Amino acid sequence: MPLVLKFGGSSVADATCMRQVAGIVAGALAQGPLVVLSAMGKTTNALFAAATAAEAGNLAEALAGLEALAAAHRKAAQDLVADGRRGPLDQELTALFSELEMLLRGVALLRELSPRSMDAIAAFGERLSTRVFEAHLRDAGMDSVWFDARTVLRTDAGFGSAQPRPGEIERAAQSRLRPLLGPGRAVVTQGYIGATEDGLTTTLGRGGSDYSAALLGAALGAAEVQIWTDVEGVLTCDPRVVPGALPIPELSFAEAGELAAFGAKVLHPATIQPAVEARIPVTVRHTRLPEGRFTTITGSVRTGRPVTALASRGPITTLTVTSSRMLAQSGFLARLFEVFARRGVSVDLIATAEVSVSLTVEADAPLKALVADLSAFARVDVAEDRAIVAIVGERLKATPGLAARAFGALGGINVEMISMGANEINLSLVLRQDQAEEALRRLHRALIEEGVG
Ligand code: ADP
Ligand code: ASP
Ligand code: MG
Repeated sequence: MPLVLKFGGSSVADATCMRQVAGIVAGALAQGPLVVLSAMGKTTNALFAAATAAEAGNLAEALAGLEALAAAHRKAAQDLVADGRRGPLDQELTALFSELEMLLRGVALLRELSPRSMDAIAAFGERLSTRVFEAHLRDAGMDSVWFDARTVLRTDAGFGSAQPRPGEIERAAQSRLRPLLGPGRAVVTQGYIGATEDGLTTTLGRGGSDYSAALLGAALGAAEVQIWTDVEGVLTCDPRVVPGALPIPELSFAEAGELAAFGAKVLHPATIQPAVEARIPVTVRHTRLPEGRFTTITGSVRTGRPVTALASRGPITTLTVTSSRMLAQSGFLARLFEVFARRGVSVDLIATAEVSVSLTVEADAPLKALVADLSAFARVDVAEDRAIVAIVGERLKATPGLAARAFGALGGINVEMISMGANEINLSLVLRQDQAEEALRRLHRALIEEGVG
């Protein structure tokens, strides 16, 4: 059974990082790894910036961005592949950068950047990084193959955040990718990118390389999907907010899914689902500390912790819909949700009281339209710049006094809405966005550092 190794942007940011990654791949060579790479460092951001500049008619800025990317990739290529053997890679990079330049010039001429064009441009990050890295593996004497993920990662035409088609991905992976995989050889492919049935390039949304790794792992029946990144696994909180956050050795699929959905950037929110369905363990590891601690995510973990981790997501908007006739009216909720369905807005959290319902939506939801529709039959109060802070743990519900402890820890921070997730492993609090980080620090201290239960 093959092994899938996914390396994120910071793991392949430059030649030094790529050498480190090559060492990890060499160690896994006997297991016939499929190596899924992100773009180098912040390349995807730079591609978005160049495309946006081109759309605004600022071609010089767009081309300067492209030059900087070309310089970084050529520098890595020089450091990673010996002079006499770099010809084919240099030609490949030249071809890719001239294609990218044509696209940017096209966008600048038309002053138009459709999601479809943006995906074609964004895909260059992974197309470039995998070329450089695979050439390095070969140069270092490893048996390796570069593989175009777009030939197997079939998606719909939802450019910018395309939905994968698992059945088609599995068939294509079995017929095209599987025969290339075997002990002693590394197959290098791109995360994040896919293609429609017409062969148009799509992307799975920002951070989508984790998702690619899980989809490909599921399609191949991999023994394990390893997500290599810049932290020692999934931590009890985002370390940028809580520096004392601790690595979690074992996490259940359900906990990991909740954490990802509620903002733990270390995993793309959809990553867990293909792995769960295929019962493939996912591990999260630190590229610079390959022998260090890591997290294993599996279905069977039964942890004894009341609280496993915290995450937060924002800004979001809360809508409180009040109708004094609510209780008397059958079908009120149906009418309420019909408004959101018609506007294509997904509702995140819901809390109901006797005469009101509070709901949270993404900050970019069409607020004016929603309020207008809802005002036809209820009063609507809107609170913007809110955040969701999620407390996640398998034994949350079975731990008495936990909510009281959480509220005690929050002190003067006002909680405007509370919602227990349907799977009972997530207690979500809504509060002001500018208080979210402080709330996380206080909750981490009280529920994780000091322990509960
Ligand atoms: P990659 O480029 O490898 O995909 P990301 O930047 O997408 O890496 O994800 C790793 C980052 O996620 C970490 O550097 C950390 O700042 C952030 N993060 C947020 N929440 C968590 C958490 N609970 N555990 C670990 N990392 C987290
Ligand atoms: N390169 C893409 C991004 O920056 C995908 C990824 O890294 O997961 O969003
Ligand atoms: Mg990521």
